[in-house]
Amino acid sequence: MSDEKNMNENEVEKVETVSVEPTEEKQEDEYEKVCFICRRPESTAGKMIDLPNHISVCNDCMQKSFDAMNNGQIDFSQILNIPGIQIMNMSDLEQTIPKKQKLKKKKEGEEKKPLVDINNLPAPHKIKAKLDDYVVGQEYAKKAISVAVYNHYKRVATDTMDDIEIEKSNMLMIGPTGCGKTYLVKTLARILDVPLAITDATSLTEAGYIGDDIESVVSKLLAAADNDVQKAEQGIIFIDEIDKIAKKKNTNQRDVSGESVQQGMLKLLEGSDVEVPVGANSKNAMVPLTTVNTRNILFICGGAFPDLDGIIKERLTKQASIGFGADLKDKYDRDKTILEKVTVEDLRNFGMIPEFLGRLPIVFTLKGLDKDMMIKILKEPRNAILKQYQKLLALDEVSLEFNDEALEAIAEKAIKKDTGARALRAIIEEFMLDIMYEIPKDDSIGHVVITKEYIEGTGGPVIMLRGQAVQRLP
Ligand code: ADP
Repeated sequence: MSDEKNMNENEVEKVETVSVEPTEEKQEDEYEKVCFICRRPESTAGKMIDLPNHISVCNDCMQKSFDAMNNGQIDFSQILNIPGIQIMNMSDLEQTIPKKQKLKKKKEGEEKKPLVDINNLPAPHKIKAKLDDYVVGQEYAKKAISVAVYNHYKRVATDTMDDIEIEKSNMLMIGPTGCGKTYLVKTLARILDVPLAITDATSLTEAGYIGDDIESVVSKLLAAADNDVQKAEQGIIFIDEIDKIAKKKNTNQRDVSGESVQQGMLKLLEGSDVEVPVGANSKNAMVPLTTVNTRNILFICGGAFPDLDGIIKERLTKQASIGFGADLKDKYDRDKTILEKVTVEDLRNFGMIPEFLGRLPIVFTLKGLDKDMMIKILKEPRNAILKQYQKLLALDEVSLEFNDEALEAIAEKAIKKDTGARALRAIIEEFMLDIMYEIPKDDSIGHVVITKEYIEGTGGPVIMLRGQAVQRLP
């Protein structure tokens, strides 16, 4: 017995020694040093000289510092010539450069290898089948995105852009809020296991103005790839709210957050070497910069494009009102699929510039969610909200059931809120609070049925005790 105890203690000790291993230094080692003065990384500035307090300085800056101290006297005019230095504050020396601003080191002899292996690249129908597990409806969008992504990674893996130029498959997704645009991209990145950055176009402005620089979208991807440039160069960037950078109409001022942002984004979308700030949203003297090639980064833009339907309607009515076969004026007023008829011309009228649209060759629309889709979203996806609650209660050995009328009532409430599927969780959370609070109080409860009356506030849920037969409500 005592032997056994000893053995157990030994084992515990062993485990402890393994977990206590100092990993911080090792992790540090994977990141490049950054010059404290000019903020260039080791790969650009060359070998660093280590000083106390984890400070590293590149050879150039060290030399300039020595030069500045001419004949034992400090020549302040020269200190100010060192890039990145305006006024040197000695207390700054206490700070070290945060890890999020350091780049991952390239291992010696390591070749650039594609993240997605051409032989293991899932075919479009397989990508779509996986998307089907999570995303309800939106069949056309799922198909379009699967094919585009498949072609994109095929191009990346074979690197055929140089001989026969396969065009980049950047995409533009149009669909009302909460219909699953972001969710689709997130699921896709998870399936392919590539880094993904989700950013918002609303905060972007032309460099030099208040707001985030356009290159910050690439910085976010770099952060998502653990500051590994090579990995980031094959990731996906999703830019939401792209309609917010439409050209401003009737303005005489410089359009720093609209047309200029579209112009600034052209070279990113097309693929070029861009200088991006590491671990920050704008370039300034205190942030290290690195070069990222965006040639293999897949850009997906998404937006709700409010009032685009009006523009499409106007075009269609104009076309159809000429000649004998003229349509009635209000023919398209109740057309639910009007967005699907979008053309590049409509988007131009909306305020997107032609060069920008030219770099997003794949345009597709997502449908607004109807009642049936809402109900499916509640119960069908792999991590559906209902399944999550059922699992939570199952841990208390209580089974949870929503009857069909209740699901319909939830969907109707959500549609009224007009925020797409996002409203579902808010509604469910509201009434599940009481259930999650009350049920664990009473051990004898075995089954709970959520009814339409409970959702609408006119009655309560049906609660059954353990051992009682489960009665389905009519
Ligand atoms: P948006 O189109 O505004 O980007 P989101 O993709 O962020 O909307 O959707 C919000 C949430 O709604 C998602 O996190 C997801 O849980 C749910 N959702 C929306 N559409 C669908 C869908 N078609 N299938 C499954 N879940 C969806």
